[in-house]
Amino acid sequence: MNRMCEECGRNTAQFTAIFNDHGQEVRKPVCEECYSKLQLSVDDTTKDLYHKLHDSTRKVLYYARKTAREKRHKYVLTAHLLYGILLEDGQASLTLESAGADVISLKTQLDIALTSIDDLLARGSEEEPILSDDIRGVLNDANYITEKLEFPEIEAVHLAVAITEDRGSELAKILKRKYNVDTTSLLRELEAQLPDSIDLVKKLKESTEKKSPLEKFSRNLNTLAKQDKLDPCIGRTEEIERAVHILSRRNKNNPVLVGNAGVGKTAIAEGMARKIVEADVPENLLNKQIYQLDLNAMLA
Ligand SMILES: [Zn+2]
Repeated sequence: MNRMCEECGRNTAQFTAIFNDHGQEVRKPVCEECYSKLQLSVDDTTKDLYHKLHDSTRKVLYYARKTAREKRHKYVLTAHLLYGILLEDGQASLTLESAGADVISLKTQLDIALTSIDDLLARGSEEEPILSDDIRGVLNDANYITEKLEFPEIEAVHLAVAITEDRGSELAKILKRKYNVDTTSLLRELEAQLPDSIDLVKKLKESTEKKSPLEKFSRNLNTLAKQDKLDPCIGRTEEIERAVHILSRRNKNNPVLVGNAGVGKTAIAEGMARKIVEADVPENLLNKQIYQLDLNAMLA
């Protein structure tokens, strides 16, 4: 008998979604649709961005994962993402093409590159490919680009722009050298598709210059708490209280949270931000701001 998807209860379960829920590994039989949604929404980076992803971007991420899974790749890389853009075959792919990329030859080239990846999952393994740090970087960049260009959602074409923005990356180099496609040429094509004439290149450049390093490389947790964009924090009350207490001390006031990835260190910082916003902290902490540094963005 076929198992039903434990997420939607409608479709047959074809995949096992494995994710980390507050430090606990959860395995759930799910359908294809819920799988791509779940794996995305529980991922640390995409969790915050998920509600902002345009349908085209969800499709691209789905194709990128699917490609990685079919090839038994351990990681979903930026190359899978670009390949996903071509498979999605929508506005992003068209924009790449009109900017000068030969989509068919690019696809062949990516196919060859992807086939040579040897970081593989064991045959028959139930594990699923995970998003690489590079992809997280591209998603964060695409989010930044979307905000700066004042688009309501992160569209697939913004992923393409983000890929070309990372000038150190191999993909950006190939796009530039082989097809003369870069951020400027993509944005020019995008401009041509808009009803109003807006200089997107100028807009992106100006806003990049205006942004302070702190804004550029961090998230303000207070702001997110105010906007109710942080996940509810379950438990951890004791740790939060303790951290608040240490921060309130006159000296030796540097709390350090140590633990493996996924155990909920961020949840503690977020919980503190929420308490500050709710004025549920000692007076000396009331007007404090908590920033979360994005080390990936800094290193990029
Ligand atoms: Zn489902």
